[in-house]
Amino acid sequence: MNTGSARDANEILIPRTIADEAMDAAACIGCGACVAACKNASAMLFVSAKVSQLAILPQGQSEHKERAERMVAQMDAEGFGACSFTGACSVECPKSISLDHIARMNREYLGAKLSSDNVNG
Ligand code: SF4
Repeated sequence: MNTGSARDANEILIPRTIADEAMDAAACIGCGACVAACKNASAMLFVSAKVSQLAILPQGQSEHKERAERMVAQMDAEGFGACSFTGACSVECPKSISLDHIARMNREYLGAKLSSDNVNG
């Protein structure tokens, strides 16, 4: 029996501004310069770029709450420091990853923590 196939990603139309924002986040090469530049050795810029890259696009909406929670939990488990929002990471980043991604990840994480699924689960 033919049960069909996965939907082609190109079928979902995405506004140019959203696509550009996702591409900016995807530009992170994982070099770690942001962590090295941070006085707290925080990995927030790197991790938030990865969270944003997926959270911005409709294709990344499934599991977006779990993704933010798990990536923050893993970042903490690896021993990275807390972000005090000095911005040194973004200044040193060779790909000019914006601090806006940290704000987005914080919203994603807070939303996941406050969601009814997690309160009841
Ligand atoms: S410095 Fe920029 S490109 Fe390198 S890991 Fe950090 S966010 Fe990614």
